Amino acid sequence: MTTTAARATVPWTDLAAVLRGRIVLPADPDYDTVRAVYNGMIDKQPAAIAQCRDVADVIAGVDFARENGLTLAVRGGGHHAAGLGVTDDALVLDLSSMRGTRVDPEQRIVVADGGCTWGDVDHATAAFGLATPSGIVGTTGVAGLTLGGGTGYLTRRYGMTVDNLLAADVVLADGSFVTASEDGHRDLFWALRGGGGNFGVVTSFTFRCHPVGDAGTIIGGPVFYALDDLGEVMRWYRELLPSLPVELSGWIGIMAVPPAPPFPEELWGRTVCGIVWCYTGPGDRADEVLEPIRTFGSPLLVGLQPMPYAALQSVFDPLFRPGCSGTGRATSSGRSATSRSRCTGASPRCCPAVSRRCTSTRSTAPRRRSPRTRRRSPTATEGGPGSSSGSTPIPRTRTRSPAGPATTRRRCTRTPRVARTSTS
Ligand SMILES: Cc1cc2nc3c(=O)[nH]c(=O)nc-3n(C[C@H](O)[C@H](O)[C@H](O)COP(=O)(O)OP(=O)(O)OC[C@H]3O[C@@H](n4cnc5c(N)ncnc54)[C@H](O)[C@@H]3O)c2cc1C
Repeated sequence: MTTTAARATVPWTDLAAVLRGRIVLPADPDYDTVRAVYNGMIDKQPAAIAQCRDVADVIAGVDFARENGLTLAVRGGGHHAAGLGVTDDALVLDLSSMRGTRVDPEQRIVVADGGCTWGDVDHATAAFGLATPSGIVGTTGVAGLTLGGGTGYLTRRYGMTVDNLLAADVVLADGSFVTASEDGHRDLFWALRGGGGNFGVVTSFTFRCHPVGDAGTIIGGPVFYALDDLGEVMRWYRELLPSLPVELSGWIGIMAVPPAPPFPEELWGRTVCGIVWCYTGPGDRADEVLEPIRTFGSPLLVGLQPMPYAALQSVFDPLFRPGCSGTGRATSSGRSATSRSRCTGASPRCCPAVSRRCTSTRSTAPRRRSPRTRRRSPTATEGGPGSSSGSTPIPRTRTRSPAGPATTRRRCTRTPRVARTSTS
């Protein structure tokens, strides 16, 4: 590991001279913004961050780290819960400026640069009524999710994200550039599909795409139930899921209803059991397939409706804003995976819709800060291109038991708390 004293002797100007992108050093005013990742609990202090613009920048960064004995970290979307995209005293290659996409609708493939978010890819493929399996939040990075496997709404029908990876361009530790696929560098291709981020820096991914819905229009949205119904709902969901056609998928969780349109105001902030559904089959079969969902139990809200697939993919982006604190646990079976997301309310980066409603709580809450934590200003990526204004209309149907105005409560009840118990 490079020490702080040794860092001072690193010839950063040599690297800056060969990069198209910028080098950000600890003395720079935006250092704290640039080093921040999604999880607000992560407080890593890299020696420098190279904001790569192209493959040549990545090669230069890898060579520079190797020649100067620096630890190298690679950052895609910055969503990793443990913050593995940034490391103390390392040179971070930040690929978040490399976000080009190219779709070949005839071959049904999409090529995405290494710094893309899924919002970038969904936007590009939606124009052709296509999609590739990914996660359920548009701001998650393509790189980290793919290299770790990747599950989402399309997984039941088309497999995991890695099952749809056709090729990856990779800069290896010696600075060489290869394309890994079934046709070449097959060992590397095997390792990339689930092995995480340790096999090189992926500068672009090629995915197989699939048609979804009727020309990209699917039927999706949340169905909310009262928390008292949780056990009954979960048992029903567990039994029902295997019998459903693969065109229908959903994830279930305990969540606070976002305090903003399009959700009905009487439900804002209420903690509910929710299932978010996505049906990607032909529209003329939708009524039949969705019948058991529409008729089960006593839902507070049935928000199922036609919408572009890309709209469902980004509808929760405002809930999962950078700066929230998060811990997670998952199992390979996916049957008992859990994750927790906690709003500290201490940062303007954290859940703005929540903070706006909880000002009094924030102003009195003690603020925990590690001794070396530097002040962070709102990140430039906040509400970035992958995010959405949450403008997907959700009809106010079948609501019951309106909650009282939660703004009077002492505690922040607007916390987007999701205990994800299963993703199908
Ligand atoms: C709000 C939220 C929702 C999520 N939803 C889902 C979901 O629905 N389905 C799912 O499967 N997962 C989901 N995840 C988990 C997510 O897939 C992982 O956290 C993933 O690592 C994020 O990738 P990233 O590029 O954003 O992260 P980063 O933190 O940038 O990177 C993660 C890892 O990949 C490495 N890496 C990044 N870019 C590259 C590159 N170009 N080349 C080589 N290595 C690289 C990093 O070094 C690091 O080790 C979610 C996470 C969050 C925070």
